[in-house]
Amino acid sequence: MEKQNALLRKLPKVDDVMRQIAEETKDVPAAIVKRAVKEQIDQWRNRILAGEIDQISIDCILSDIRKQWKRDAMFNLKGVINATGVILHTNLGRAWMSTEAAMQIISVATGYSNLEYQLESGKRGSRYSHVENLLTQLTGAEAALVVNNNAAAVLLVLDTLTKGNEVIVSRGELVEIGGAFRVPAVMERSGCIMVEVGTTNKTHPCDYSDNIGENTGALLKVHTSNYRVIGYSDEVKLPELADIAHSNNLPVICDLGSGLLIPLDEYGIHSSEPTVTKCVPYADILCFSGDKLLGGPQAGIILGHKQYIDRMKNNHLLRALRIDKLTLAALEYTLRQYLQPEKVTQSIPTLQMISASKKQLEEKQKMLLSLLKMRQSIFFEPIEVESQVGGGSMPDVSLPSLAISIFSDKVSTDKLELKLRSNTPPIIARVMRDRVILDMRTIDYDELPIVASCLNSL
Ligand SMILES: *Cc1c(COP(=O)(O)O)cnc(C)c1O
Repeated sequence: MEKQNALLRKLPKVDDVMRQIAEETKDVPAAIVKRAVKEQIDQWRNRILAGEIDQISIDCILSDIRKQWKRDAMFNLKGVINATGVILHTNLGRAWMSTEAAMQIISVATGYSNLEYQLESGKRGSRYSHVENLLTQLTGAEAALVVNNNAAAVLLVLDTLTKGNEVIVSRGELVEIGGAFRVPAVMERSGCIMVEVGTTNKTHPCDYSDNIGENTGALLKVHTSNYRVIGYSDEVKLPELADIAHSNNLPVICDLGSGLLIPLDEYGIHSSEPTVTKCVPYADILCFSGDKLLGGPQAGIILGHKQYIDRMKNNHLLRALRIDKLTLAALEYTLRQYLQPEKVTQSIPTLQMISASKKQLEEKQKMLLSLLKMRQSIFFEPIEVESQVGGGSMPDVSLPSLAISIFSDKVSTDKLELKLRSNTPPIIARVMRDRVILDMRTIDYDELPIVASCLNSL
């Protein structure tokens, strides 16, 4: 007790510490510094009271305080270097945008814009008009609408067209997408009645046609974007499903998920991923994400017949799901790139990474190796790996890639990985068979010197 009291008396006073560190923190908001001082002194007090320590060091307390204000003064949301080789990494923000797309955001963000204003007539306009013509031109759809994300798109489509009605869907397509998007849950939310037909591996045309009744509102097809069923399996393809629906005067709704606008076979990528353009002639309504294979900002894109899109535009739910002006700016930029399909694998970073040539990957690997200092207890080795498209897209495609493998006989792999992750900016790596792997596919040329300087300082 006596000893604890003596220790407590030795704890520095908040104001004294504030004065002591005034010089080094003069550019840091006072609120951040004060909080760090208070919280760290409190923690030391608690440790004394819990009997965890029997001496205190002012230097240690000051060092704890410094660590906290340095951490708190940094942005919470910040850029990281993705060395995982997963191009559309759901936890790392999916698609990243080009500088040009970001410039378009800046020009709309840092001033007024014609978001809902028609410059020609001087009358009120619609925010949706800025991308509708681009979308119809690029895909051949009759009309288009964009919302916050694809989950919102599915919700709006079902709420508008099928509330209170039965919607027939294959059991093989009741998918869950990372981040808690589940088809049955969204269907329930929208107020439609889910009628599941077929089995997990096989669904036949008669499963749909036999279940069409008086209260059927639509047939739904969900692209199983993040997995493939192989072996003894069968699904009803979109054209055939459309035939069944249309001969019963019903619409087909298709949740495509990824939104691939151009085929990638030219780049040696053979996936069963359907392109949007191929589906448009069959689906009455089709939706997909903006930040998956399209390579744009987070958005949900809805395409289809004007009569249906018009009903969605008049649904009050749209107001709650609406797209933001900054997103629209980036989305318009992204869509415009597709007007020059021959250039799109250069102008859209996601497609650039997917289509990166072996030569480019080799260049990066060599460049990084040349920037690394060879040392006693840490080893860098060029290796071949497989990258993934990710983001719940193209699970059947793995892209041969090149990487640097890091290994140390002094420091554990987990520690190495943590060191990279604690860098400014953080470097997110993959750990595989007791090696830290840096995949060249998702690291930009500009980032290589940053990665090298982090590795050289390990
Ligand atoms: C990714 C995906 C979604 C969810 O899209 P978000 O844009 O993340 O909301 C819905 N359906 C399918 C089939 C998907 O692949």
